[in-house]
Amino acid sequence: MKEAIRLLAHTLGGELHRFAEAGFEVIDRVRAEDLPAAAADATVPAVAEAPAPEGPAALATSTTASAPPPAAEPAPGLSLEALLQRPGPAAQRLQVLQDDVIGACERCKLHRGRNKLVFGVGNPDADLVFVGEGPGAEEDRQGIPFVGRAGALLTKMIEAMGYTRDDVYICNVVKCRPPNNRDPEPDEVEACEPFLKAQLTLTNPKVIVTLGRVAAQTLLRTKTSMGRMHGQWTTYAGVDLLPTFHPAYLLRSPDKKREAWADLKKVMDRLKTDG
Ligand code: SF4
Repeated sequence: MKEAIRLLAHTLGGELHRFAEAGFEVIDRVRAEDLPAAAADATVPAVAEAPAPEGPAALATSTTASAPPPAAEPAPGLSLEALLQRPGPAAQRLQVLQDDVIGACERCKLHRGRNKLVFGVGNPDADLVFVGEGPGAEEDRQGIPFVGRAGALLTKMIEAMGYTRDDVYICNVVKCRPPNNRDPEPDEVEACEPFLKAQLTLTNPKVIVTLGRVAAQTLLRTKTSMGRMHGQWTTYAGVDLLPTFHPAYLLRSPDKKREAWADLKKVMDRLKTDG
C-alpha cells in the first residue's frame, strides 16, 4: 500500500512525494504512541498489513469501520522490533525509544502516580549496564535514576571499579515510581520490561549488574534470596548478568559492602577477559 502511494506520488512530482513520506512518518509516530503493552514486546514483530476483504467480509468490515478496535487487539504499526531494526547510532535510537515509543506511557497503572518517567542515563554504548528495580521519590522528582544517597554510593562503587557514571548505563526495570516504594507488581513488570530489553539491545553491553533483590528476582523470574544469588553469574536476554546488593541496602547494612565489592571485582575480571 505504502509502495503504491509512493509510486503515485513519484509520478505526480517531488512535492507530493515528500508529502507522502512525511505522512508515513506521522503514521509511524501515532502508531508508536498508541502501541498497547502486548505489542510493545521486543520479540513481537510488526503486524503485517492484512489484504483487503472481499464479498461478505468486506460488507462486515464496512459496517464496523467506525467502531473502536477491541481492547485486546494490538494496534498495527511500529513495534519495538521495528525500532530496533532501524539503522543508526545507539544514542539516537535510545532517544527515539524514550520520546516516540515510550513517550507519556500509560501502559501500566504506575503512570498515575508518577511525577517524571525515569528512562535511563549514561553511555549508550556502555559495556556495563546497572539495572535497579524502579525509581524512588528523588528519582521521580528529577527523572534521573539513582540519585540521592543510594545514588551517591552507586557512583562510588562505579568509580571504585575504575569507571565514571558517564562510562556505564544505568536504568531500572520499571520506569515509573511504584507508590510508597513498594515492589513493582507482575503486571507492571510485564508492561515495562520490553522497554528494558530494548535498552539492553541498543546499548548491547557485555555485562549487566542487577542492584538488589527485586531487580534480580524480577528479571530472572526466581524467588532465590539475595544471599544465594549475589555474585553468581547467569544470563538475561543473552547477556552475562551478575546480581549484587542495592546501594540503599548497603547504606543500611555496611557489613555487606565487602561482599558487594567481591561481586564487582568479578565483573571487572569478566570485562577485562572480554577485552
Ligand atoms: Fe509505562 Fe513502564 Fe511507566 Fe508502566 S512503568 S507507565 S509501562 S513506562
